[in-house]
Amino acid sequence: MTSPSPSGEGLGWGVSLTTLSPSRQPPPPAPPLKGRGAKTTCPYCGVGCGIIATPTGERKVEIKGDPDHPANRGKLCSKGTHLGETVGLEGRLLHPEVGGARVSWDEALDAVAVGLREAINSYGPESVAIYGSGQLLTEDYYAANKLMKGYIGTANIDTNSRLCMASAVVAHNRAFGEDVVPVSYDDIDAADLIILVGSNTAWCHPIIWQRIEAARAANGAKLVVIDPRRTETAAGADLHLAIAPDGDTALFNAALLEMRKRGLLDETYLAQHVATPDGFWDDLAPPLQGGGLESLTGLSATDLTTFFDLIATHPRTLTLFSMGANQSVGGVDKGNAIINLHLAMGRIGKPGAGPFSITGQPNAMGGREVGGLATTLAVHLGFSDEDRATAQSFWNSPNIAPKPGLKAVDLFRAVDSGQIKVLWIMATNPAVSMPDAGFVRAAIAKCPLVIVSDIIADTDTAKLAHIKLPAMGWGEKDGTVTNSERVISRQRALFAAAGEARADWAIIAEVARRMGFADGFNWASNAEVFSEYAAMTRACNTGKRALIVPATDDYETMQPVQWGGASPFKKDRYSTPDGKARLVPVLPLRLPKTPTLNTGRYRDQWHTMTRTGLSPRLSQHRPEPLLEVHPEDAASHGLFDRGFAQVDSTAGKSRFRVHITDTQRLGEFFAPMHWTDQLSSEGRSNRAVTTQVDPHSGQPGFKNSAVRLSAYPTDWRGFLVTRERPTLSDDIFWTASRLPDGWLIELAGQGAIDTAALLPRGELLEAFDKARGTRRLAVRAEDGSLAAALFLTRSGTLPERGWIAGQLSADQASAPELLAGRPVTPTPDRGPIICVCFDVGTKTILAAVADQRLTSVEAVGTALNAGTNCGSCRPAIRALLDPTKLAQLDRAIA
Ligand code: SF4
Repeated sequence: MTSPSPSGEGLGWGVSLTTLSPSRQPPPPAPPLKGRGAKTTCPYCGVGCGIIATPTGERKVEIKGDPDHPANRGKLCSKGTHLGETVGLEGRLLHPEVGGARVSWDEALDAVAVGLREAINSYGPESVAIYGSGQLLTEDYYAANKLMKGYIGTANIDTNSRLCMASAVVAHNRAFGEDVVPVSYDDIDAADLIILVGSNTAWCHPIIWQRIEAARAANGAKLVVIDPRRTETAAGADLHLAIAPDGDTALFNAALLEMRKRGLLDETYLAQHVATPDGFWDDLAPPLQGGGLESLTGLSATDLTTFFDLIATHPRTLTLFSMGANQSVGGVDKGNAIINLHLAMGRIGKPGAGPFSITGQPNAMGGREVGGLATTLAVHLGFSDEDRATAQSFWNSPNIAPKPGLKAVDLFRAVDSGQIKVLWIMATNPAVSMPDAGFVRAAIAKCPLVIVSDIIADTDTAKLAHIKLPAMGWGEKDGTVTNSERVISRQRALFAAAGEARADWAIIAEVARRMGFADGFNWASNAEVFSEYAAMTRACNTGKRALIVPATDDYETMQPVQWGGASPFKKDRYSTPDGKARLVPVLPLRLPKTPTLNTGRYRDQWHTMTRTGLSPRLSQHRPEPLLEVHPEDAASHGLFDRGFAQVDSTAGKSRFRVHITDTQRLGEFFAPMHWTDQLSSEGRSNRAVTTQVDPHSGQPGFKNSAVRLSAYPTDWRGFLVTRERPTLSDDIFWTASRLPDGWLIELAGQGAIDTAALLPRGELLEAFDKARGTRRLAVRAEDGSLAAALFLTRSGTLPERGWIAGQLSADQASAPELLAGRPVTPTPDRGPIICVCFDVGTKTILAAVADQRLTSVEAVGTALNAGTNCGSCRPAIRALLDPTKLAQLDRAIA
């Protein structure tokens, strides 16, 4: 397709734009006055922490935890704490664009409306699709869902929440008759046994982790972590079960049978509140017999017995499950195996007890509520004739989606096959985040019309767009989000919109009006959208479902509110026709044993790093993506620590620096999900992630892709610190991360290196050490300050990065010191930074521990401040204090 022109010519749809009305921009909410704090919500994970944000200047903001918010009670993790470093205008999409040219909003909106209308006229409603995000606010999600399902008449609207917790949604629906999380964060405080399944909580949901730590300290709650990897979370547990990938269903089925054998099921609860299908108990045992359980889980009989004993003796059991459970080809069954145990033991609907799916994204839950998944109609309604009639009647809409739409993986396959002619992507980066991302990127590239609404101008996905619509980002947009425990909170505007950016719901409403749907999209404000959504939850619910969003008298001052309350299933009546929950028969997966790649998050990064990657502080914890490999795998594949490796799958290949660690199981490798082509030449892990999906939820199995591992030999390696980022060739291996005054770029490669292409103009200083094959170059600017320094070696060591990086901020750069890579008077080497709040490094902590005989995290905090602010580094500090765990500590930071 040729690039469309601003006038719409070249879109190929041939519709006149003249009948369309001019754009109406609703008045933006008034940002708070400088120096006055606004209560808002963190835009990262599903914990949904409350924030008091106080603007202190032009796009500057002071961030504090909100002591009144029920999710965090004043605490924030490292990502939330450093939000202020991510609100600048760098990289922002400031104006609408069509075909690469800046246009007016009217022209852009016309082009979108025409594109949609013509595709629908020519190919039908199933030819268009929206792919949204858990970053959208509930009002945005509601508007997009209403447009697609009620007006265009297709359910082809899915979201990146499909990649996150779609399996938990289906498990809830199967067990409870409705997608409802039946517990609250307060249950963490009341539990006496906390089981974490597939969750590196200390890194991915740090404030929940802090609550778990507090509960353990206060009431001695036991902690079991079920995870193939010995993460920082697992290292701090009373029992770590390093389970084989996808062994969870077998483990929970075995626990259920064992509790039944011990006479610990709650027969009264089962009889009154749970329906048990015929043959349920008979089918559970056979796959686990004759060594089946040990083989499926990879766990010893001793560990299994310890786990069962803990369950047997701790009635207030809370099981939190997250992406490690959901991102599996058997993710739904894992969820139901967990829920089955809770239902059968009556450990649900009581303080401290229940199954707790933790969401990844800030508004994954809000999206689920309004119907942002292709498999739900709206407000927990399905696609039965009755439900469709109910929704259509409420909306008074011309159409209603006839059937569920395409789930994310199928949606991009339909883009590839040509079924989808118009794809509108909102607030997400599927060219990086989808499995088999190379395929997804190619599919998007050949879609006739791609519209991207985003805050960033040039994400890997936005580069493929024909029409770009600038959306408001965090700190500008205003609306509501729902967190993992069903608490609805306000996000509030702190600044004026960047450039011409608009709220997503307003953009969608404007497109709808231009398509002739003015009656359904005449909202004057986000408060009106929320009010309509809340009214729909009440009007379309005849007492059959738990989802009822209370009306709010004053949207502007709205306080956090939990729909359904602490016990959403009143009197243990579930949302099924007979009011009983269901035990769901689930059988363990038996997958071929092949080397596998597991992907996940780092502590201080978020998704594809479009925001956290802007923060120099957050970039310190893990400046580059590392492939974690067991020592025996490293030896058998000829890998060495900090060398390089390649993983190949049927989807594609990725390359990483190697981190050898016995926290990995043999034959299983781990890589982070965050790096894009803009921050790494080859470390985009989803290139190698394959696309098997759960058959019930369509959620991809990110945690278990069959791969081949091999060494990636390099002739040289090095690093560049530079004020201005150069154009980097993909002929060399590189990863880029932020410094306070520039960039740190790690490099490696084969053959010759073109140093001139990496360095700016200026006074060139250079030193060689031929014996070691080491070369050092520095460029000083006219004023004598450092512009860039490049250190390369074939076989020697490289200097510590921290001091050299700091020279970018100095007024003058000393030639001898630069070429030595260290100051004449050496400063103590802090080692890699663990505590990003107070810039405290590993070596500083180890020295203080040795010198001052520190024995606790609190003592380290008193001595160095480390771990006393956000607390995200406390598990790492604890590992440093434990001589038995010191050897296991992530050697990437040593
Ligand atoms: Fe934000 Fe951290 Fe709270 Fe998650 S735990 S919502 S990332 S502050």
